[in-house]
Amino acid sequence: MLLSKKTLEIREYTAGEQLNEGYIKLNSNENPYQPSPLVFNALKDINKLNFYPSPKSDALRHELGKLNDFVEDDIFVGNGSDEILGLAFLTYYNQKDKDIIFPDVTYSFYPVWADLYDINYRTIAQNSDFSINPQDYFNLDNCQGIIIANPNAPTTLEMAYEDIESIVVNNQDKVIIIDEAYADFGTYYCTALAKKYQNVLIVRTFSKGWSLAGIRCGYAMGSRVLIEGLNKIRDCFNSYSVDRLTQAAAIAAVKDRDYMHVCIQKVIATRERISSELRKRGYTVPQSKTNFLFITKDGFDARSVYQSLKEQKILIRHFNLPKIKNYLRITIGTDEQMDMLLDALNTIV
Ligand code: PMP
Repeated sequence: MLLSKKTLEIREYTAGEQLNEGYIKLNSNENPYQPSPLVFNALKDINKLNFYPSPKSDALRHELGKLNDFVEDDIFVGNGSDEILGLAFLTYYNQKDKDIIFPDVTYSFYPVWADLYDINYRTIAQNSDFSINPQDYFNLDNCQGIIIANPNAPTTLEMAYEDIESIVVNNQDKVIIIDEAYADFGTYYCTALAKKYQNVLIVRTFSKGWSLAGIRCGYAMGSRVLIEGLNKIRDCFNSYSVDRLTQAAAIAAVKDRDYMHVCIQKVIATRERISSELRKRGYTVPQSKTNFLFITKDGFDARSVYQSLKEQKILIRHFNLPKIKNYLRITIGTDEQMDMLLDALNTIV
């Protein structure tokens, strides 16, 4: 047998279909707007490609430190936040030991990393409206860590800051990872928790709010001990995981944060308009704090709606999982794209 037992046994993460040509692509929570023009200028000026990049992305960490008012040595940059999350599981949690815990309906990559490293996990059911009771995360037996995506994916919901803090306060002996992939579209960040508590790691991405899914860049903020652990594990895997082009592009984006805010405001305005249009049409649309919607309707056959939209060249995401199989996840595109989606839904449903 040429493959390891792990390779044979593990069920890998399934990413959204990456069909760009000819489709309205609303299936991977990408930003419909281009990144800042400064990013393209920076890429034109790239040089020194014969040399390895800064292993810890020093200049980018400096900019991120200023952006977040965070000590730059307590920031870690990675090749997309997926890479950081994957490294974090290995950095903080023991194999074949107590469980790590996350909500039942959340980012479907978490169980994959756990399985990859033989980290035991269990999930906690949300309420029927997908809201999370913070008390469910207090006094946990047999638990070595907690992962919370805030706002959560695919449910789109944000937890109250005080609720997240209460989970942290009640679990100060374990690392709590807060995945803020979509927080740029929400109402607050948890940066202050990472400053106040040693056991909190915040993970962010350039893929969504910054319109840079194509460069693969993310970052984490936490206490010195958490960041040094990540650096150590990164150096056991790939010391130069973030290339020069990516570092330069991300630096340019951060320097033009006003541009990013304008794009975010456009996405939020479209999100609110389409949410209310869908509610008028009888859909259940939880109050999204992300750049996507999670919708259902009485008597809805989500899978067939997904298929019909695909035939009309509109790609959205359907998860064939028991609790959410009657839901569709739809990324917020431009106003024009979303109007085409509404028209298509009107004829299909
Ligand atoms: N966390 C969540 C909740 C996500 O939905 C995604 C995007 N699939 C990521 C992390 C990873 O994003 P990226 O690797 O592009 O930074």
